[in-house]
Amino acid sequence: MNNKPQSPHRNLSIDALLTSKGPVLIGESCRALMRSEARYRLLINRMSALIMELSLTGEILYSNEVITQITGISVDELKGRDFTELLLIQESAAEMLHQQFLQKGELCAVRSGIRTHDNSRKIISWNSVNIYDSQGLIERIIYFGIDVTKQVAIEKELSIAAIAFESQEGMLITDAHNMILRVNRAFTAITGYTAEDVIGLNPRIFKSGHHDEAFYAAMWNSLSDTGVWAGEIWNRRKNGEISSEILTIAAVKNAAGIVTNYVSAFVDSSVINKALEEIKSLAFYDPLTGLPNRRLLVDRLEQSLLSSVRSGLEGVILFLDLDHFKTLNDTLGHDMGDLLLQQVAQRLTACVREGDTVARLGGDEFVIVLTALSEQKIEAAVQAEIIANEILISLNQIYQLNTHIYHCSSSIGVTMINNSEAGREELLQQADIAMYQAKKAGRNRVCFFDPKMQATINANADLEGKLYKALEYSQFRLHYQIQVDNSGSSVGAEALIRWLHPELGLIFPIQFIPLAEETGLIRAIGQWVVETACAQLSAWQNQALTCNLTLSINVSAQQFQQSDFVAHLQASIEGHGINPGLLNLELTESIFLANMDETIASMNALRTLGVQFSLDDFGTGYSCLQYLKRLPLDQLKIDQSFVRDLIVDNSDRAIVSTIIAMAKSLELDVIAEGVETDEQRQFLQHKGCLHYQGYLFGKPLPIEQFEALLVSRTGHAAPSETFLRH
Ligand code: C2E
Ligand code: MG
Ligand code: MG
Repeated sequence: MNNKPQSPHRNLSIDALLTSKGPVLIGESCRALMRSEARYRLLINRMSALIMELSLTGEILYSNEVITQITGISVDELKGRDFTELLLIQESAAEMLHQQFLQKGELCAVRSGIRTHDNSRKIISWNSVNIYDSQGLIERIIYFGIDVTKQVAIEKELSIAAIAFESQEGMLITDAHNMILRVNRAFTAITGYTAEDVIGLNPRIFKSGHHDEAFYAAMWNSLSDTGVWAGEIWNRRKNGEISSEILTIAAVKNAAGIVTNYVSAFVDSSVINKALEEIKSLAFYDPLTGLPNRRLLVDRLEQSLLSSVRSGLEGVILFLDLDHFKTLNDTLGHDMGDLLLQQVAQRLTACVREGDTVARLGGDEFVIVLTALSEQKIEAAVQAEIIANEILISLNQIYQLNTHIYHCSSSIGVTMINNSEAGREELLQQADIAMYQAKKAGRNRVCFFDPKMQATINANADLEGKLYKALEYSQFRLHYQIQVDNSGSSVGAEALIRWLHPELGLIFPIQFIPLAEETGLIRAIGQWVVETACAQLSAWQNQALTCNLTLSINVSAQQFQQSDFVAHLQASIEGHGINPGLLNLELTESIFLANMDETIASMNALRTLGVQFSLDDFGTGYSCLQYLKRLPLDQLKIDQSFVRDLIVDNSDRAIVSTIIAMAKSLELDVIAEGVETDEQRQFLQHKGCLHYQGYLFGKPLPIEQFEALLVSRTGHAAPSETFLRH
């Protein structure tokens, strides 16, 4: 509103008259005018409304004193200033507001903010009146502003209250005389009554007749004593139906403490019951398949155990796991996995009788409890096997997973529940163990729980606990078994681990190495073997008798595949200052199952250092001749199983001959293990075997005994004596 033309309508005449001190003749009419003017000013300034007179360009020509109360700016200061400066809106918007006044003529209730003297904000509702000149053109505008700040705040609160009022709960408000004033939409939804049906009536129209007078008297007593009542009440809906509601009534009092209204809020109990049902369903059922979950299963199992004891009829638990379910999830995604689980659930339910339980434990694990089978354990087991096989067949049928055709087998473990001392958790565990047995046996099959399995598992669990402590308590030992050449000279030894447990005594590797592999403890144990063997080689270096002996250590595939295996081994070799050429690593054919390129790279790295490699138990595993050619090996070790029956078994003889010939053609050294007799040795030697290991030359021995054996064999021993059994 810049560059406004000066208002030609600025009216100063009355002011001039009143403030004039000059010899002006004031006549009666003038005095009357002055009185009227003074009255008008008094009136205007006493009004609570803000009054402003503006030029067409928005310049303030006059304002009453209300503006000073609001803004702190005096009336005189305001004169001549732009009206929009007062408004708490952007300039362009303020201009627009004024233009609206101009274009639309007399506006009403247009709201804008005004900045107050304490820097807060007041909301003013503006009305305007246009003043016309004698030609009927708008000459000036009078603005009337009413402070509606409080009203706006109340409106806001009311709108919040209105939203709250339209909540999910039915709401009903009465006056102090219990006449219904308002109801909300939820009220109508629950009771069937519209607002028009009930406004002006007493809530007693909802009475169902279910409660006596004492009930209502107690309600009113509570309301008058405490201001609230809450409880369950039976009411009649518009359609006559009787329903139970959870109701809260609160008395609303005014400042004087007199009740003005009663506010009732209620919910349909059936809704609560439905919600409770839902909670229960979530707590006891698997949301994906709708089958009982573990919690409900345990409950049902408990009942089955009791009824089995009562009736004497057998029951069984089937523990079922889908084969290769993870692959499906990984390849087709979890949505397809979910679809499969749902279809499996349907098929399982179809395979059993009504009283039986099919539950989903989670993932792809299902448990089926079959009850009321035969009294005879054997017969019941046969029945269970028939049903389990039916399940296998049913689950083996093709699945349609959206556009995918899918095939899936399963593995089932079974355990009988009657006369079992085991609790429900233990029974589930038994069925689980049997299921694992089924998996191990090749999947897609049924396996019954065998207590011997449990004993092995328990023993393993016990041993596992002890194995964790074995390293810490230095319970491992290395025993050394001598290796000789064709002339009977000692050329080296194989280090074989032993676990010397304070209570269990000497434990052989067959009993704990598989467990160590399963638990990953083999890595730490293997590292200990490497360290101990290197320390031994270092000690041997200083004695003439032992300084040329090689030492073979067994390295499991898992240990060898560790990314830092090469670095650790190198550190041990360097740390002990040993000749790497005397260290021989025995790997088994399980190494073929791993990443061959990585294996070969590690072997090459160690071979560059001088370390030797031997392929242990050769002939028993996955011998792949192509790989054999690629592996940087030094020696093949003929497995003792072929040596054992060499003399009596033609095929073993053929195998051993072939291995020796093959080693020769691959330019590898060859050693036979498990040589117990001279006959065996002679045959091997005849076929071209170069080295031997076995009881014929010496059993695995603690280091002191091994060194004693060395001494006894060295130098003075004639070749014929060398092959005597020790
Ligand atoms: P392996 O490496 O094939 O060891 C040869 C096994 O044959 C040894 O059993 C040894 O005591 C036994 N043996 C040697 N000569 C004869 C014989 O003339 N007749 C008979 N009947 N047996 C003989 P051991 O010490 O019980 O070791 C069993 C297996 O445990 C070893 O087979 C090896 O695979 C593993 N093992 C031993 N020590 C370690 C180790 O430090 N680390 C790893 N990862 N595995 C080891
Ligand atoms: Mg070995
Ligand atoms: Mg072996």
